[in-house]
Amino acid sequence: MARIGFVGLGNMGAPMARNLARAGHEVAVFDLSAEAMARAEGAAPAASGADAAGGAEFVLTMLPAGQHVREAWLGAGGLAAAAGPEAVLIDCSTIDVATAREVAGAAGRPFLDAPVSGGVMGAEAGTLTFMVGGPEEGFARAEPVLRAMGRTVVHCGAAGAGQAAKACNNMLLAVSMIGTCEAFVLAEKLGLSHEALFEVASKSSGQCWSLTTYCPVPGPVPGSPANRDYKPGFAAALMLKDLGLAQQAAGETGAATPMGARALELYRRFVEEGGAGTDFSGIIGMLRGG
Ligand code: NAD
Repeated sequence: MARIGFVGLGNMGAPMARNLARAGHEVAVFDLSAEAMARAEGAAPAASGADAAGGAEFVLTMLPAGQHVREAWLGAGGLAAAAGPEAVLIDCSTIDVATAREVAGAAGRPFLDAPVSGGVMGAEAGTLTFMVGGPEEGFARAEPVLRAMGRTVVHCGAAGAGQAAKACNNMLLAVSMIGTCEAFVLAEKLGLSHEALFEVASKSSGQCWSLTTYCPVPGPVPGSPANRDYKPGFAAALMLKDLGLAQQAAGETGAATPMGARALELYRRFVEEGGAGTDFSGIIGMLRGG
């Protein structure tokens, strides 16, 4: 079992740290918030991030955004300096690709970007999917640790590849969800029932995850958030954040992503109109209104 330092015990980090401790690892934790510190049962509280990282074989962060990650790893008293030379450094936050590469380059030893999908429920159940960028050797060492928190662990390539996979996947998800919602809105106007559209599209070329697993109207898929008044699930504010990261990457690389850009505009409007805490499939309500 490994000695692990874990920094950032929010909605995702606290259950992830708990699962590491449950798996038998020796986990030292730190968060700026005392309230968050109290949530990591089974782990030992540390006085600072550097204190949690000192002597650890693996150091993990789960922080809000790129500026927090850069500051935590590279700032004064940062984790990269505090961790031993043999430690594997892993950031699980969802951040922009450029910052992930910058921090990995500056860390001076194996550094993995390992964002997740699966949300708070996946973090609690230990069923997250990890998308990992960074050197093969670091990945091989980190994989068993990540498996204590997740079910699927994919090595996507060099530094930044995990964040790239997350940005591309979530942009595709947003576009497919909006397309699915639009198909239902048009069906309603044409007098075609939800059930009939679902029956046809789920078995023909319109088939996609947003339709068959996460259907944005109540009925056809009983477990989807549409059946519980669009309680998340995956909140629209988080989708908006991920679309911003995808557009940032598109801007930096010159990739043409007109549908991703339009999806960002639509989710921004949905969030501004009060949808931030609503499941992202709830955007169908806004689309009905035009
Ligand atoms: P959160 O805001 O609940 O938690 C972030 C925690 O980081 C807070 O407790 C905060 O006090 C702490 N923190 C910030 N700066 C710190 C520092 N320098 N040192 C120590 N602690 C610090 O966020 P979350 O929902 O847990 O999300 C974390 C990351 O995971 C984000 O990048 C998010 O986009 C991503 N993510 C979230 C979900 C989700 O469903 N919540 C799903 C997938 C990915």
